[in-house]
Formats: sequence, structure tokens, C-alpha cells
Amino acid sequence: MEIDEAREVRTTCPYCGVGCGVLAKVAADGQVSVRGDPDHPANFGRLCSKGSALAETIDLDGRLLYPEIHGRRAGWDEALDLVASTFSQTIAEHGPDAVAFYVSGQLLTEDYYVANKLMKGFVGSANIDTNSRLCMASSVAGHRRAFGSDTVPGTYEDLELADLIVLVGSNLAWCHPVLYQRIAAAREKRPEMKIVLVDPRRTMTSDIADMHLAIAPDGDVALFTGLLSYLGQHNALDRAYITTHTTGFGQALFAASALDLAGVATATGLSEDELGRFYSLFAATAKTVTVYSQGVNQSSSGTDKVNAIINCHLATGRIGKPGAGPFSVTGQPNAMGGREVGGMANMLAAHMEIENPEHRDRVQRFWNAPDVAQKPGLKAVEMFQALADGRIKALWIMATNPVDSMPDADAVEAAIKACPFVVVSDVLAQTDTVRHAHVRLPAAAWGEKDGIVTNSERRVSRQRAFLELPGEARPDWQIVVEVGRRMGFGGAFSYETPAEVFAEHAALSGFENDGARDFDIGAYAGVNEGDYNALEPFQWPAPSQAAPLWPAGHLPLKGGDRLLLQPSPTANVAKRGQSVKLPISPLEGEMAGRPEGGAQAGGWPEGGGTTGRQPTRFFANGDFYTPDRKARFIAIRPTVEIRTSPDYPLILNTGRIRDHWHTMTRTGKSPRLSQHIAEPFVEIHPADALRFGIGDADIVRVSNPRGDVLVRALVTARQRQGSLFAPMHWTDQFSARGRLDTLTAPLTDPISGQPALKHVAARIEKFAAKAFGFAVMRQRPEPDTAAYWAVAKCKGGWRVELAFADDDIDWAGFAGSLFGAPPGAEMSAYHDRDAGQHRIAAFDGDRLLGALFVAPGPVAVSRGWAADQLSADHVDRRGRLAIVAGRPGGVDVDRGAIVCSCFGVGANQIAEAVRHGCGSVAAIGAALHAGTNCGSCRAEIRVIVDAQSLQAAE
Ligand code: SF4
Repeated sequence: MEIDEAREVRTTCPYCGVGCGVLAKVAADGQVSVRGDPDHPANFGRLCSKGSALAETIDLDGRLLYPEIHGRRAGWDEALDLVASTFSQTIAEHGPDAVAFYVSGQLLTEDYYVANKLMKGFVGSANIDTNSRLCMASSVAGHRRAFGSDTVPGTYEDLELADLIVLVGSNLAWCHPVLYQRIAAAREKRPEMKIVLVDPRRTMTSDIADMHLAIAPDGDVALFTGLLSYLGQHNALDRAYITTHTTGFGQALFAASALDLAGVATATGLSEDELGRFYSLFAATAKTVTVYSQGVNQSSSGTDKVNAIINCHLATGRIGKPGAGPFSVTGQPNAMGGREVGGMANMLAAHMEIENPEHRDRVQRFWNAPDVAQKPGLKAVEMFQALADGRIKALWIMATNPVDSMPDADAVEAAIKACPFVVVSDVLAQTDTVRHAHVRLPAAAWGEKDGIVTNSERRVSRQRAFLELPGEARPDWQIVVEVGRRMGFGGAFSYETPAEVFAEHAALSGFENDGARDFDIGAYAGVNEGDYNALEPFQWPAPSQAAPLWPAGHLPLKGGDRLLLQPSPTANVAKRGQSVKLPISPLEGEMAGRPEGGAQAGGWPEGGGTTGRQPTRFFANGDFYTPDRKARFIAIRPTVEIRTSPDYPLILNTGRIRDHWHTMTRTGKSPRLSQHIAEPFVEIHPADALRFGIGDADIVRVSNPRGDVLVRALVTARQRQGSLFAPMHWTDQFSARGRLDTLTAPLTDPISGQPALKHVAARIEKFAAKAFGFAVMRQRPEPDTAAYWAVAKCKGGWRVELAFADDDIDWAGFAGSLFGAPPGAEMSAYHDRDAGQHRIAAFDGDRLLGALFVAPGPVAVSRGWAADQLSADHVDRRGRLAIVAGRPGGVDVDRGAIVCSCFGVGANQIAEAVRHGCGSVAAIGAALHAGTNCGSCRAEIRVIVDAQSLQAAE
């Protein structure tokens, strides 16, 4: 295979909805490096910590490389025949609603399109739903209620043009870091820009906020209905916009007036003074963008929250204008693409409505389908309940891990185990879901497949393959197409390339559209293979009369047409190597010594900038997608739901951390990403910690009637009193009992069907650990003796946190099995049985095999230093003594918790640098490099700088 060493492949990051452009390069020795694409209009060359570490996640360790049936290797034909025949037989015996697909915002649009087409058009059921249901279904429902369409009106550029940004339920600094950096850079240029953070927690995003409203959980509806009422009372309305472009304002204002300011204060947990300051700032600032994400969507009142926000923007005419609008930011890389193809159970393809007979007829004619589904299918939570009660008898899960990510996860796992036929397409051979599959289908991973994704600002970008397919892995679209053919629908599934699928998707979007539907990329209906490969990022709408962003002119497809294109060229894909390079941004070095904010401020073009066309916005002049082309105000009455009880007195909030993604199937492979936070934890306010007898770093049990988890306690005043926060990433693959969604409830928003993942009652108690441990080792450990364990990759091997219910343990024997030490391995040990202290190290020659540290309380050993010993060339006598002593010898210092993943800089080093005069993030960057690559840690560095400076001043 020819490999052009000089050539970088332009692709897109597979993580969050920012949709950053990535340049990936495979060197002749197989080493992969990635960097941000300077020409991509989402990120202009920037990547966050996750994107920067992509090259560390592409190895084949743990990959599913061959089809399997009941755990034995099978050929593709046998596996596909079994899937097709079982689905066909189930449909024949029990009807089309007895089967279901559960898909994912990780899929590419082409994958999504064919899966949706197969289920809704040819099986004749709408039982296809997606993990995007857990992410942003409430935004979709809110958009459709207000606009008549699922339209995101604005663009990223609006975040730079706004004078006020209101961030609601959105920890942008950790969950959409490049957007956070864009905002931080814009604020650096225009310090008069104001930022308000609405979040129960003081997250890292509060770093750039002028005002943090620590709202009560689910207080958002009251906050924004209160705002609408305030705008009405203070004559801060755009009456011309309301009159010309909307209906229902009077009813919405009346409903919003149900609470006076004191009532809003009670419902939100905010003071009247805080409310007054926020409301007057909003009323006075024409250029306002309200950004919201999972804190709004993942709620039993998520759709009302979205509409309460949109109501305020409609009432002020602040929508679709530069620097003004409501802005839903999606969690997943292709949540928007899934919405475009109708990948949710209550949607039809190309933003058409399943309840609308005209739309069904149009899709049926276009697909030449026998049987388009006549009614919405089961949404995710309903789907797994139908699995549990036997209504669904065959399920195909693609690219997602519902045993960990669905609410009431133990019940979901039981339902999957009980289902007669479960197919899972995945890249990994072992996840908590894959292990229950009857048929396992090896799917292509990021870097191995071609397709498109759409980011939060409606920008469509290519993901491109730069690695050859390993083993017998295939792209998801191809797997679905093969099953469709075997089910007897070959004529409709005759695609040979993803370009053909994309061309049909584009053609359907423009089919009988004429401006009646928002989603129209008809300009791309005539795409050919070469055009598809050269496709530039573009924003929709791009109707057929628009010039497409590829060089040649082609006639768009019409309904029923099919294009036959040449197979995808493989000249740019390469064999992967065993090692990866640390990708360093081209901006490294440039940044050191810049003024604070320089990393962000230095990298963005004036005014945001775009490639191709100018950014598109919707609704500045009305023209909504309702029958009368007017937006709908939604009358919303604020309600407050109490879910806590004397037995479960705390509200558990769930979410993400900076350096991990979903269930860690990809980020868990990266030592760099695993060093930021290496174990599951729960944040608790100091007053609650005191109340429940919990100390910092204790192991605690968080529980409710559905389940329990064992996690590390993090006592912090950043948490709201009465609430807990815990991340959703840990699974049975990485922890003993860290599956957080065993606690969350199958309670959903009544309109969107999105689960209330951020508000569940729970209690917390200290786990009576008799002993704690920490270990590093070369091989992956299996520490089943421990009641609590959490493993993470580190450079040179693995690290594991441990806690034991019993301390009557043969520690040397435990250490030997943990390390996989061969007979005769040299062991060094220190035991103080009275003090409960044990330290054991094993060596293979002069290399460390593993080291275990045991103490009666949380182990106070430097994790970074201990892990570094695994990759030391050799450990001399002094080094061995230091390991058994449990502390660095000589001049080594404990780095502390890693803050900067790119350069491995810890909190202790940053604090030390502040004590030596580094008084800004830029100064820390100059001294330690921390924060000068991807910039994701700059908020945390600023917190440490501020805290140390404050301490010094006291
Ligand atoms: Fe990927 Fe980070 Fe960009 Fe999100 S912000 S798309 S995770 S690089």
C-alpha cells in the first residue's frame, strides 16, 4: 500500500458536539500523530485534551476483529445471515414492532441513514432510537414546539459577537472545551462582554463567569419564566417581532406571571438580588446568546426549560441575529446528524414528521418503500422497558453501551440478558453491553471509516479514514446494508460507498422541499466519489440552488434515482504502528509568555471566521416552519418537584469530566487522559460531609432503592449543599462498583422522553474500609479481593486504587497476584502490622514489576511518582528503597494531582510555581508549559493561581 508520508488526512474529532477538525498523519513506521485543523471553522487549529490524545486511542488492544456467534468466531456471511433471518422471522411471527435498533450519536450520518431507512421504511416500525435521546431530545422537542422544526438558529460566531452569554446547565470548560476557549478568547479581546453561569455547581466554567447563579436543581423553568415576566413588567420586549412573527405571547406571559419575584427566588434557591441583577442585565443587553446543554435537557421538565429559554429570546426578538439567540450545544459528535436522518423514534428522515401523512407519503415515494412506519416508535427508556416485558424480541445495538449509560442500568442489563436475540456492533470485544450479545459484529473505528458528521452549529464535516480496517471489521453502514439485502430489500440497499448514501440523504432533504423544511442540503445531491472525498465543511441549509462546496457541478438526484459510484479509494489509508507520538500543537512555545488568555486569544481569526459560505442563521425575520410561518410561545407554569425523602435526602447530579468520554471505551486507553482523574468520585459539600460523617478521600457508598456505587469522596465547597455530583464514565471494566446509572431513574420528560439524569434522590454513607491501597504494575490487574477498586492506564502500565472490607490479608500474596509476578521475582517489602502499613514492590531484574502501598486510611503516596517508576529504565538500590519507603528520594517532588495532561504537570508543581512568583496562567505556562498546548486545563490552573494568591495575601 502506498503511503504518502507528507500527507495529512483532514477528518473530524469523534467526541463532543463542537465538531473540531483534525489533521491525522500516519508516518512510515506506523506512528500516528494528530493536530487541530487550522482551516476548520469550528476550532481553527485548536483541540482540547481529548482531541489531542486521539492518537493514543487507536491501538488494537481489546478490539473486536471478527464476527462472533455465541462467543465463537464466525464468518461474516454466517453472522449476517443469522441476524437477517432472525429479524425477518421475528417480524413474521410477532410483527414489526417486535424488533428494535438502539443506535448512537457516535455513528456517522451514512450509518444512521441506512439504519433508519431499514427500520422505518422496510421493516415498517419506528422502533429505532438513539443514545442521543439521553443527550438532547428535549432541545429537539423544544425547537419543534416553538419553531415547527428542529432548528438551531445560530452559529458559533455568535458566541464571539455576543455582549452577554448566559450558560445554562453547561460546563463548557470541561464538556465543550474548544467552545469555552473561543468564548474566553473573545472575552479577552472585549473585556466588556459579560458571562453568566447558571449551574447548581461552581464548575470550572465559573472561571470566566461574571455571575454564577447556583440554582437549585431543576430551578431553570422558574428562572426563565421569571425572566419573561420581568421583561414584560419592564417594557423590555420587542413588540414588533412578537406581533409580526409569533403567536401565543399573551398566554405565555400570563403563565409566566404565576410566580412573583419572591416565588421565583424560592423555586430557584437564588436571592431576589441575584435574580434582579441577572434579569436587568439580560433586559439591557440586545446581543445575548443563551447556551444550554445537558443541565437543561436531562430533566423531567427539559422541554419546558428549553421553551422557557426560547420564549425569552422570541419576546426580545433576539434570535438568528449576529450575537443573539438561544443555542443548544449537543453532547455527541453526530447528534445533529442523527436528527437530520430521523434517527430518533419519533422523527422521520430529513426533519420530516412521522405523524404527518404527507411527510410519510413523501418519504415512502422517495425510498420506494413498501411500508413506512405509521406511528412513532419506542423512545429509549420505553424501548428497554419493552425489552424487559418481552414485547421486543430481537434488538440490535450499534456503537453504544446502554448497560452503563441508560438510567436504571441494572434493569436495562437484565432486560438485555433476557432478550432472545441481541446483536451488538462495536469496536471492542469486551464492554458491559457486548458481553451479553448473541451476535457480535466488528465495526470500524474512528480513523478507519468514511462519512460525515454535523456539529452543534449545523456544520457538516467529513470524517475520513487514514488507517486500514483491522481484522474483518467493517463500517457500520456496510453492515446494515448487508442485513437489509439479506432481509430481501436489496434494491433499496445497493450502495457500494458511503458517498452514495450521502448523495441519497442530500437528495431526500431537498425532495419536494422548496423551502418548506429547514433541513435542506439538496446542493449535495449530485455528489460523486471525488467530490465527496474533497468535501469541505459546510453549514446547512444548502438547498439545490446553492453552490456546493466541491469543485464540479452535478445534477441533484430526484426521488427514486440511484447513483452508482466508484468504490472508495484506499490510497490514503495506512497500516498502524504500535506506538504513538505525543501530539503537540503547532502553537506550543508560541504561547509561553503570552498575556493571560493568550493561548485562546492568539488562535482565532477576527470575528470567528468561516470557510466557504458566510455563517447562516435562521429566524431573524421570522419565517418559521409552522403552518402560518410564525413561532409559538409556549405557556409554561413553573413547578417544583421534591424527590428527596428522609431516607434519601440528597439530590444526585450526574455528568462528565474533562478528560474522559462516555463509558471510556476510547479515552480509557490513554495514559495521558487517565491521569487527570483516575477513579470514580462524588463531590459533596463540606456541610453535608460533616453531617454524614465523611472525610475527604473516604470511600463512600451512594445508594437509592435502584442500586449503589462505591466511589471516592471529594469534599468541596464548589458543590451545592444538599446535592451530590458524580461522573457517569466508570463501568465494570474500570471499577468494582462505579456504574453510576444503576442509580438514575427511568423518569423522563413527558414530551421528549429524555431521562432526568441530573436529578435523582440518593443517600451517602461512609464505607467502613479496613484498609486502603494504591498500586502500580505493568500488567492490567484483577483485584477482586478488594471491595473497591478502580483501574486506569498509566505510562508503562496500570495503576489501581483499592479499599478493603477486611485487613486480614496476606499482602505479599495479594501483591504477587496483582502484579502477575512470576515465581522467583525479587520482592522488597516493608510491613508495620501495628500501624497497618505495608509496602511491597516486585522487580524483574532492575525493572519494577509492581508496587503496592497499603495503609489504614487513604494512601498518601504520590501517584505520578509511583507510576513514573514503571517506565524508569532501571531502578537502582536507592530507587528501590524510595519505592518501599513510599516517597520520592533526592530532589524528586510530588507533582500532585495532574492538571495539565499534555505535559503531565501536577497541582503541587503549579502551587509551588505560584509561591515562586508566577501570578498568572501565562506565567505558569512560561515556567512549566502547563496550559500551553490544548488549553483545556487553563481554567483549573487559574483556580490554583487564585487560591494560592489569596492564601499568600491572607
Ligand atoms: Fe473533540 Fe475537544 Fe473539539 Fe470536542 S472540543 S470536538 S472533544 S477536540
